[in-house]
Parts: sequence; C-alpha cells; structure tokens
Amino acid sequence: MAKILIVEDEATLAETLAENLTEEGYAVSVARDGETGLAKIRAELPDLVILDVMLPILDGLSVCRIVRKDPSTVHIPIIMLTMRGTEVDKIVGLESGADDYITKPFGLGEFLARVRAVMRRVPSRTTPQNELIAGNLRIDFTGRRVFKGGDEITLSHKEFDLLAELMRNQGVVLSRDLILTKVWGYEYFGDKRTVDVHVRWLREKVEDDASNPTRIITVRGVGYRFEG
Ligand code: CA
Repeated sequence: MAKILIVEDEATLAETLAENLTEEGYAVSVARDGETGLAKIRAELPDLVILDVMLPILDGLSVCRIVRKDPSTVHIPIIMLTMRGTEVDKIVGLESGADDYITKPFGLGEFLARVRAVMRRVPSRTTPQNELIAGNLRIDFTGRRVFKGGDEITLSHKEFDLLAELMRNQGVVLSRDLILTKVWGYEYFGDKRTVDVHVRWLREKVEDDASNPTRIITVRGVGYRFEG
C-alpha cells in the first residue's frame, strides 16, 4: 500500500485530506509541524508528501529544501499547499524542488486528481522496481548497471543517474530544471547546458545512432523525454 504523509497544522484540513486519501486506499499519516514532518519523512520514507508552506517550528519551504538535499529522501515527490498568490514563485522554481503545488482553498476533487497524477508518475516503493527494460536497453537500479543488447555499457555516475531518471519517467517530458534538481540536487546552480552535455554523452552510449536518437528525445524549449 502506498504511503502518504500530510504535513499540515490546520487540524480540520489535515483530517479531511487524511480521510479522503484513506478512502482512496493509501496508508496516511499526519504531522502538525515542520520538524515532526521532517522526522516522519526520514523515518517512514513515504511515497508522497503533502506539505503545507506555513507551518510552525519549521516552514514547508525549508522542509522541502532539506528533503531535496538528503540522498535518502531526494526522490520523494512533494505536493505543496500554499495560499493564493504567496510563495508560488519560490515553489514552482528550482528553489524548493517541489513536484507540484495547490493553492488554498482547493476542492477535494482537484486535490485527489493531483495526488493520483503524481502517484502515477512514481513507481511505488512498496513494489520496488529493480530493473527496467526498454527495447534493447536494460537498467539495473540496485546494481547501478546498464546493458545494451546484452552487453554491459559503462556510464559515469551522473550519466547513470540521468538515464535512471529518464527511464523511470518513460513517456513523460522532464524539464532541464527538474532534471537538474533530481540528478544534480537542489544545491546545484549550474548551467542548464550541463544537462544537454550529459544527454549528448549518454546518447553516444545508449542510442544506436546518436545523431538520430530514438530513446532520449529532445522536446524543444522544454527538456527531454525517454521513449521505451
Ligand atoms: Ca498552515
């Protein structure tokens, strides 16, 4: 069962969200302040965090940044709850590393739709996916190995992380910003061309013809998409 953690200090809202997510079949836990929320994220490693921005003790943006810096939690998707017109720029930018945000007040239908969308993108940790196969490519996440047509290919650390991120999100366009956050980490303020350079190197190794890529597709003006 997929686990969702709600970090929200408004008791009524937290309860309403928890009840509805439980009805949807998720295992839900709730924290009422940022510090407890962070402790639960580390202890429970939820599949998704619903994180309010305005929280006692430690605010939501700080929690999000800390989660994104920690290699053991960096992959956990986060949906932030925010007041209309406040903090939105910080949330959607690289600054926080949140996956999505919802402005208050919001309808339950919208909320559940956002949750389902994020959960669809993320393979559940409760059914761990140790490897993925796409055409003649096979990636072994646990052993950090990649095979092309049965032959192992050698990738650098970042090339592996980049390929893993792309393959985990087959068919989904990943922006350069998102790739920088997920692969290089929140702390990285480098040039977005870093992503392009690594994609070029990766294509040389995984594509049959690097000048006519069929796996790692460029989505002009946005980023990249992996085709299985
Ligand atoms: Ca609040």
